[in-house]
Amino acid sequence: MTTEKDPAAKPLDFIRQIVADDLASGKHRSPITRFPPEPNGFLHIGHAKSICLNFGIAKENNSICHLRFDDTNPDKESTDYVESIQRDVRWLGFDWGGHLYYASDYFDHLYDYAIQLIAMGKAYVCHLSGDEIRAYRGTLTEPGRESPYRNRSVEENLDLFTRMRSGEFDEGACVLRAKIDMASPNIIMRDPVLYRILKSHHHRTGDKWSIYPMYDFTHGLSDMLEEVTHSLCTLEFENNRALYDWVLDSLRTPNHPRQIEFARLNINYTVTSKRKLLQLVHEGHVTGWDDPRMLTIAGLRRRGYTPAAIRNFCAMVGIGRRESWIDMSVLENAARDDLNLHAHRVFGVLDPLKIVITNYPEGQMEEVVAQNHPQNPEMGTRTLPLSREIYIERSDFMEDAPKKFFRLSVGREVRLRYAYLITCREAVKDAQGRIMELRCTYDPATRGGSAPDGRKVKGTIHWVSVPHALRAEVRLYDRLFSVEYPDADKERSFMEFLNPASLSVLSDCMLEPGLAHAGPDDRFQFERQGYFCLDAATGGPGAPVFNRIVTLRDSWTKQSEA
Ligand code: ATP
Ligand code: MG
Repeated sequence: MTTEKDPAAKPLDFIRQIVADDLASGKHRSPITRFPPEPNGFLHIGHAKSICLNFGIAKENNSICHLRFDDTNPDKESTDYVESIQRDVRWLGFDWGGHLYYASDYFDHLYDYAIQLIAMGKAYVCHLSGDEIRAYRGTLTEPGRESPYRNRSVEENLDLFTRMRSGEFDEGACVLRAKIDMASPNIIMRDPVLYRILKSHHHRTGDKWSIYPMYDFTHGLSDMLEEVTHSLCTLEFENNRALYDWVLDSLRTPNHPRQIEFARLNINYTVTSKRKLLQLVHEGHVTGWDDPRMLTIAGLRRRGYTPAAIRNFCAMVGIGRRESWIDMSVLENAARDDLNLHAHRVFGVLDPLKIVITNYPEGQMEEVVAQNHPQNPEMGTRTLPLSREIYIERSDFMEDAPKKFFRLSVGREVRLRYAYLITCREAVKDAQGRIMELRCTYDPATRGGSAPDGRKVKGTIHWVSVPHALRAEVRLYDRLFSVEYPDADKERSFMEFLNPASLSVLSDCMLEPGLAHAGPDDRFQFERQGYFCLDAATGGPGAPVFNRIVTLRDSWTKQSEA
């Protein structure tokens, strides 16, 4: 059984349409795409959209998608991030089939291309400072001014650039700039920087380089060297396309990939920017990149999301050119849709209240049969031990219960799911008036949960036998931010909108005993409580820890009685 949505069942999005047209016209025999993360953080749900698009197009056309690390910023990058990104792409269900590349592998080529541009008179070494370059650049309404270094001779530029490479100059002393047009209406084309001096150790090239190429220079050439056909990126790169094309056109490269932009994924109640996620991790607002409240792939995995749920979500969101916000509940519903089909139903009492069934023989134990998935009998049954003492949810008892409260109250009868009808006789309280336990009686003639005399009992509750219960810690999660657009306010930091109640730890939950054998990939529906999985990051001796993946229904809309 699969819940995967068939992408062919929907009309093609505009990018898939372009690809299909290029194949039909014979422009390309098969599309080659790439996913180009910078290894400066973990991947997040926004990257999943790009991964599903790039790897999806390759898969649908029996072609390949490259995984390329865009590693041109040595100060912010590390092999830990490289490894996490590979793990996450694989976990999402995609394969680069040996096409793993690094922009840093092309540094020698890129350097040669820079030399060619200089030789053509299309690049020059500039000694203006960063601030001066900005000041000279002009604005949307005013053209820029030419750098005083712009008209140096080719020989002088070649000499200076070679010396930049050999480490002769300090960081910031000069840069290599493209010589394009300081009056271009597209500010990116006003002599953009192609190389800067950085005396940094690179995680792959070590100390070989003291100059590093900029993104815009690197990206198109890397795509070209890999013979990528369609270079897909988010809309914020729309203005960079002119530069992408300028670099390839100027160098008259043997092929010229087409850059196409699509709208990035934005989800409310969260932030999807590596820089901001990094800040949350570094400042300790979350426990790490894989904190289950983070919408990183690692966080979603630990939280219990399935790869299929994330892929379905990306397919549902679709690919377009208009910026939009997706409601968090769309992601949560994608998780529910997938879990609902596959998760075994079990009993877990999160806030236990003990019941003594006073007419149940002391020392007796019996087993009742419970279904693993009431809507899908093929998923089988299991047995649950029942004894004189059981736990129920504290919220399933109410002292002065209104008429419509169909659970327990003194004098009222309720069904223990798969077991018996019980009637509450007494609530035992401590000196402060807090209810400590309930005394109930059961009707031995109602085994299985129905009364032979046909009397109606509306409420059904879950339960766990006291001597058999598995004690566990359960972590419930809420949204990490309490406002819809945490990074919308330019005056205030998104940190100010963290939801202080995003994590609740329940340390004394009582679960049915079979959960002692839960594996790291198992996901369960705790009946009436939501979907849960074992927390893969905590282990060893002591009580097991379970994460709630999602509630049964969207808790931000009205929750009806289970
Ligand atoms: P961030 O904005 O989080 O810092 P980034 O764009 O700097 O991310 P990269 O490593 O450069 O991160 O991204 C790799 C690829 O993923 C790029 O092609 C980028 O366009 C794409 N991508 C990043 N964020 C999103 C998003 N929210 N939605 C869709 N695609 C995204
Ligand atoms: Mg980026």
